[in-house]
Amino acid sequence: MCSSITPALNYVSRHARALAIQYTAPMTNPTLHTDIAIIGGGVAGLWALNQLRNRGYSALLFEHQALGSDQTIASQGMIHGGIKYALGGNLNAGTEAIAAMPEAWRHCLAGDGTVDLRGCRVLSEEFYLWSTGSLGSRLGSFFASKILRGRVEPLAQPDYPAPLRHADFGGQVYRLVDLVLDVPSLLETLAERHRQSIFNIDWHQASLQQVSGKARLVLPQCTVEPQCLLLTAGAGNATLLQQLGASSPAMQRRPLQQVLVKHQYQEPLFAHCMGNSTSPRLTISSHRTRQGEPVWYLGGDLATAGNGESSQQLIAKARQELAQLLPWIDLGHSEWRTLSLDRAEVKQAGLLRPDTAFVAPAEGIDNALVAWPTKLTLCPQLGDAIEAQLQDRQIYPHYQPQPQLLALQDLGHPPIATPCWDTLFQ
Ligand SMILES: Cc1cc2nc3c(=O)[nH]c(=O)nc-3n(C[C@H](O)[C@H](O)[C@H](O)COP(=O)(O)OP(=O)(O)OC[C@H]3O[C@@H](n4cnc5c(N)ncnc54)[C@H](O)[C@@H]3O)c2cc1C
Repeated sequence: MCSSITPALNYVSRHARALAIQYTAPMTNPTLHTDIAIIGGGVAGLWALNQLRNRGYSALLFEHQALGSDQTIASQGMIHGGIKYALGGNLNAGTEAIAAMPEAWRHCLAGDGTVDLRGCRVLSEEFYLWSTGSLGSRLGSFFASKILRGRVEPLAQPDYPAPLRHADFGGQVYRLVDLVLDVPSLLETLAERHRQSIFNIDWHQASLQQVSGKARLVLPQCTVEPQCLLLTAGAGNATLLQQLGASSPAMQRRPLQQVLVKHQYQEPLFAHCMGNSTSPRLTISSHRTRQGEPVWYLGGDLATAGNGESSQQLIAKARQELAQLLPWIDLGHSEWRTLSLDRAEVKQAGLLRPDTAFVAPAEGIDNALVAWPTKLTLCPQLGDAIEAQLQDRQIYPHYQPQPQLLALQDLGHPPIATPCWDTLFQ
């Protein structure tokens, strides 16, 4: 999907450094030109900021709360190769694209990818899958098939993760190519390299305007006129599009309710448990509160089917699931909470999950793109798709970044959002 970046880089070296920032007369609201203005600092916006600045674009990001506030900080941090989608028999270009993602992220973590993630904490290099129900017998032959070769490995009992290494455990455990990131650390790593280009925005004092088909951002200090306005505000994209008078691309919300249990059992577990259906019955990731207490964060079918249930009902169900699946584990004193939220994505027929990351122009606006990554995992794909869109529109690095920032310093810089295991157990 990514086309060559060479023309863009050549253009930078030949022209960009010679181009001056253009301010209007000092007594009026000055106009600041930048290559890219990004609205929304979740993983999508921060990833785009990093990748585009690495390519030589001047880029500014505006966030109205804390960075990663909505979905990103609530995510389980799994960077996965799409095995759970392949199980549904849905092998298409989308599942092939996601298969390449763990390796793309590993390159970034090693400092030789499109975005430099050195310093980001990896919670687990291992992700497991185990089977309990009728699907179990068919998994072995499916995972041995040519199409999944090298992506799934059946394990011998001594190699099982500690919580599954028990005499009463009856299923088969597989190791996937997936890894799990510490999401606050990911946000911190993406933000720290460009902190001076990331600003608070207060929409009581700011607005998006469309003038002759061009979007611009009006702030008390100045008017920002970007070559491209990039909307990466997650669920906030719909309102921003409305402000600009654009009705497409349309957005969908898919709600879920996750369960958190804080306990005293010290072994972590990062795994999908497969039941009778092709989507995970339960997905468990392990985290620690600021005080170092272990928390298991429970998703999968439990969370999607749990949308709309009362917190008490869902907690009762989650207790029952753990007691049934891992009866030998004593969590000790445990506290339970739930978290309801929406996954925001580009609209699909039947409210299905989109297969890929999405970026497209805002209808009727020459210089605005709207993006949803669909999954945190798909950020490398999203970054490449954004670059390809810019090149299609012949938007190349043009304005120098530094002098623009002075006028914006009063806005201040947003903090990183706090994970739910630190807010819900206070
Ligand atoms: C419970 C849960 C678990 C998940 N687990 C995984 C996982 O393990 N692996 C995976 O690959 N994916 C996972 N996902 C999906 C993944 O989290 C999302 O696809 C991804 O985080 C979306 O990122 P985003 O930047 O588009 O949106 P968000 O993270 O929602 O960020 C949007 C940002 O824009 C800001 N914003 C909103 N409106 C405005 C505005 N008007 N002005 C300025 N700023 C604004 C918000 O404050 C926020 O900071 C999970 C999702 C959920 C809900």
